Amino acid sequence: MMENGSLNLNPTNVWSHFYELTQIPRPSGQMRQVTSFIENFGSRLGLHTVRDSANNVCIRKPATEGYENKQTVILQSHLDMVPQSNSNIQFDFSEDAINAYVDEGWVKAGGTTLGADNGIGVAVTMAILEDETLEHGPLEALFTTDEETGMYGAFAIRPEFVEGKIMLNMDSEQDGELYIGCAGGADVSVQFQYEDETWIPKEDVAVKVALTGLKGGHSGVDIHLGRANANKLLFRFLKEAMLIYDIRLSSVSGGTLRNAIPREAFATIVVDGKEQYERIKEMVSGYEKLFNEEFAGIEDKIEFKTEFVTIDSAMKLIPKQVQERLIHAIAGCPNNVINKFAELPDTVETSINMAIVQSNSGLIDVKFLARSSSESRKMEICQNIESIFTLAKADFIEIGNTYPGWTPNPQSPILAIMEKVYEEQNGTKPEIKVMHAGLECGIILSNIPGLDTVSFGPTIKFPHSPDEKVEIATVERFYQYLIEILKQVPNK
Ligand SMILES: [Zn+2]
Repeated sequence: MMENGSLNLNPTNVWSHFYELTQIPRPSGQMRQVTSFIENFGSRLGLHTVRDSANNVCIRKPATEGYENKQTVILQSHLDMVPQSNSNIQFDFSEDAINAYVDEGWVKAGGTTLGADNGIGVAVTMAILEDETLEHGPLEALFTTDEETGMYGAFAIRPEFVEGKIMLNMDSEQDGELYIGCAGGADVSVQFQYEDETWIPKEDVAVKVALTGLKGGHSGVDIHLGRANANKLLFRFLKEAMLIYDIRLSSVSGGTLRNAIPREAFATIVVDGKEQYERIKEMVSGYEKLFNEEFAGIEDKIEFKTEFVTIDSAMKLIPKQVQERLIHAIAGCPNNVINKFAELPDTVETSINMAIVQSNSGLIDVKFLARSSSESRKMEICQNIESIFTLAKADFIEIGNTYPGWTPNPQSPILAIMEKVYEEQNGTKPEIKVMHAGLECGIILSNIPGLDTVSFGPTIKFPHSPDEKVEIATVERFYQYLIEILKQVPNK
């Protein structure tokens, strides 16, 4: 499969650097080896190489002859990778080399993430730094650290670390797409605190309702698909059951991660006797039918079921007032896409994910993740949620972990050049897009305002999973495209 320590693919310089990267452990949080590798690479080429306190590395390559008047371009990529492996293989990301191999036009890894995200960006940049036959103005190769776990490298970049005013980020994953913006994010965290009520069983019956089978997905990149949110569906049912049958809530649990659309939600409720249980059961199956009708063509099979719960004297109830406030607040809060761009009609600007509702002895945690490429709209949706839970008399509401987005500039001069070169090389227009997830560009731009920035890259499928793969043909196209863009950068 591999010959001479490379993947035997074109362009050979790009792939041999990518192969070297697969041999160096570089999961987020363990950047020592890979930063030394990059630093040594810069020094070995005799290029000015600096490292900052967050281990970001900048390597400067002077302009080639005749290109001295061009503006400096920053080529930006991240050094870390997501460490994910299949449960059936033994793999230690802090020691083992990635087993990259070629399979029908793609490079894949044996049972682990490949690290093409963002190893291809790093390898392409190394190839450009090394190749003395290229034509370009002054370059700054900016390699950042710990992108995948919180963009810590990007957050730490000081404005004086780079001089360029144009930045090409190589961390997006679809050939033919140019990204000119991305969403920022913020968490909204809410808590209800109370004293559990002890449940004294009479004729009452305890029932567990389980909503499962939803597709879920990433709350940024999949939010435009209109998938069902398990928490919102469950609370729609709970509200009606509360208003008609006066059910009591004992516990609730829906969603696991802030950045995932919740796939499952469960509640344990108490109803007034066997007969009422039968009616609740009918209501649940009615909702199951309704949900499947409403999400036909989007979801596959939503399951909504009831199950008897063994009567347990230790069972607690959420106080009636708290239950009412919680149910009305969750049922009433906005969720999903809030608005799209006027100029890019299929592109989401702002969204909110009703991510987690979790009760646990005297405490209910409610968590949302808001995203927007507009800072003001992001804060507006967070404050909408804050207002709803203020009315619901929640005990704690906090807007936190906010990070900036990247506001698109369709008039970007480097974008115009990239569109023109793409069309010359491919005969078709590239798609201009805004990513509804985070890219380092948003954070770097907040540290260094005014950079003219575009993000692009070759096609990578299933990043962050052991199925990650990169399409070989698009890597070559990407490299040739970048080389031509660098020739056409405007003068200072
Ligand atoms: Zn990445």
